[in-house]
Amino acid sequence: MKQTRPIKKLLIANRGEISCRIIKTARKMGIATVAVYSDADANALHVKMADEAVRLGPAPSRESYLKGELIIAAAIKLGVDAIHPGYGFLSENAQFCKLCEQHDIIFVGPPVPAIEAMGSKSAAKQIMQKAGVPLVPGYHGEDQSADLLKQHADDMGYPVLLKAAAGGGGKGMRQVAASNEFFAALDAAKREAMSSFSDDIMLVEKYLADPRHVEIQVFCDNHGNGVYLFERDCSVQRRHQKVIEEAPAPGMTEALRAQMGEAALKAAHAINYVGAGTVEFLLEPDGQFFFMEMNTRLQVEHPVTEMITQQDLVEWQLKVAQNEILPCEQSDLQIHGHAFEARVYAEDPNNDFLPSTGKLIKLVPPTESQHVRVDTGVLQGDDVSPYYDPMIAKLIVWDADRATALARLASALSDYHVDGVTTNIDFLYNLASHEAFQQEKLTTHFIERHESSLFLSDLSSTETMVPIATAFLIMRRQSENQSKDLVNSPWQASNHWRMNESHLEKLELLIQGISISVKVEHLGRLDHTRHSLKIFVDNKEYVCVCELSKDVMNINLNGHNQQIKWVERTEHATLFTEQMAVTCAIQAPDLGLEDVDDHHGGFNAPMNGTIVGLLVDVDQLVEKGDTLMVMEAMKMEHAIKAPNKGKVTEFYFSAGDLVGGGAQLLAFELQE
Ligand code: ADP
Repeated sequence: MKQTRPIKKLLIANRGEISCRIIKTARKMGIATVAVYSDADANALHVKMADEAVRLGPAPSRESYLKGELIIAAAIKLGVDAIHPGYGFLSENAQFCKLCEQHDIIFVGPPVPAIEAMGSKSAAKQIMQKAGVPLVPGYHGEDQSADLLKQHADDMGYPVLLKAAAGGGGKGMRQVAASNEFFAALDAAKREAMSSFSDDIMLVEKYLADPRHVEIQVFCDNHGNGVYLFERDCSVQRRHQKVIEEAPAPGMTEALRAQMGEAALKAAHAINYVGAGTVEFLLEPDGQFFFMEMNTRLQVEHPVTEMITQQDLVEWQLKVAQNEILPCEQSDLQIHGHAFEARVYAEDPNNDFLPSTGKLIKLVPPTESQHVRVDTGVLQGDDVSPYYDPMIAKLIVWDADRATALARLASALSDYHVDGVTTNIDFLYNLASHEAFQQEKLTTHFIERHESSLFLSDLSSTETMVPIATAFLIMRRQSENQSKDLVNSPWQASNHWRMNESHLEKLELLIQGISISVKVEHLGRLDHTRHSLKIFVDNKEYVCVCELSKDVMNINLNGHNQQIKWVERTEHATLFTEQMAVTCAIQAPDLGLEDVDDHHGGFNAPMNGTIVGLLVDVDQLVEKGDTLMVMEAMKMEHAIKAPNKGKVTEFYFSAGDLVGGGAQLLAFELQE
């Protein structure tokens, strides 16, 4: 039996929140820490938190965080005993794990053969098939001829899913609805896989219609022990990437939990697994489940498991790496309460979740407590750079049951104040407040299915939204004027006296990005803080009394009292109403200037990237929504689409060209 080998000094070969999170546990265990950083991260939080830090190189990951030899050299120089790879970067890189072994440095993760076995989704499926773990039906063979792949898809019946064998993070994946779309989808999936993983081997799977993503956390030590720490439901996804995760999975029975847990352990034992691992399954509505893949590392969403099991999984990892036996046996583990994790991203949900970069001019997370945990790697004033994943934080909440935990999630999101970059906070709030989510109607298609209510572009669907936003904007204007010390000006008097005029004010508002006209009658001040207004929207009339404080508005609207949290951002304010987050602003008067950007986001490169291809010819007539050009940025493909019927009159770039963020890509002529 191997000897216990204490870790005194740990290098974390990662950045951001996961580096910070690992440092916290190492510190608790009395282990010294070494951070690594790129030039973009010289002043990052993980660097500040670690006892020592070593520069790796320039900002791009391949010149810094992916440079295994440099990391090993730093570890040797600083007398490091172990390297924790976090997730992403080198965490599932067998080559790096071998390098660690060669230099007698402990790799906090599974042994090389286990990483290799699960490194390819195809090979993993073959191993699991032999071990008797149920698989998603499909083809995962070595012959990769396009015709053969298509033949398998045709035989299986559509829709099918093409997946990169080396894939991860939802990249290199394409759904194919019909036979005639197969080759185009195969090309696109291979292209994305090649650029992300330098490998374009594909597998074809039956596309399940309405599954949930349920995964099992497993842990094994070097002494033959293995346990499962129950499940996480990660069904709420966009572009096949997780958005909100929770544990335990709603509706899970004890019997199914045990069955899935045992299957996951069978998968782990089949490859002599050691350390933390996750076995991902698709769960069908009838309770059938199928193996998708095994991730041989700590997952992003591990905190929900920590919250419900009251265990520290990084501590477990470090103990196992020191060759200790697992801290618990299966019978010691129990589920306590319910936890959610929301991934707070710098991205624009209203623009296809395009990453957003820039300075975090405001970053005020909710207060942490036994119910609220914020795992982050950035501070106010830091930049979200285009070089790395634009995650700002993971917001984790816990409570005794699902409904209470979900209410806490919504509340904590409304207390998360970020400005300077566009974030998905409002979108996460809409998810957390959504009736179907509250009712546990989970499926991997949740976001698509509820698109209209999650992205809300129809103001009529919640009747009181416009008058509430109007009242807020009036109150906000009032308090701004007061703070500008204009209270003594007759023009700002709150009795709304107007010469020869009624008190009716006409306003143009922008609510959820939609222009709307309203009329407001100022009924006057009731006391020092409360104002009374009458608001006219279309033919309806609303009487309200409202009071605005720093981050809450109290409003009585036609006899209904509500407290609504709000936050001010650069371009608008957001109100967190019961159903959803509502953005609003008073529109600047229209001076009749020509709208120079009538292109749904314009034909400008959203960020630095590479042109992948031009999909139409110059002067070719195209329809609204047709893809004109595809560019790749941050390893994702982005389609530049026609805003309306018309034609491209000139492309300013060709396939393969590098473009800078903001560059104009093409000229487009609308057809009348
Ligand atoms: P990645 O490694 O890129 O994350 P996965 O294989 O884990 O890819 O799949 C990611 C997500 O894609 C799943 O959580 C699920 O929502 C969806 N998915 C994967 N395979 C299928 C399938 N066969 N049918 C339906 N959805 C699938």
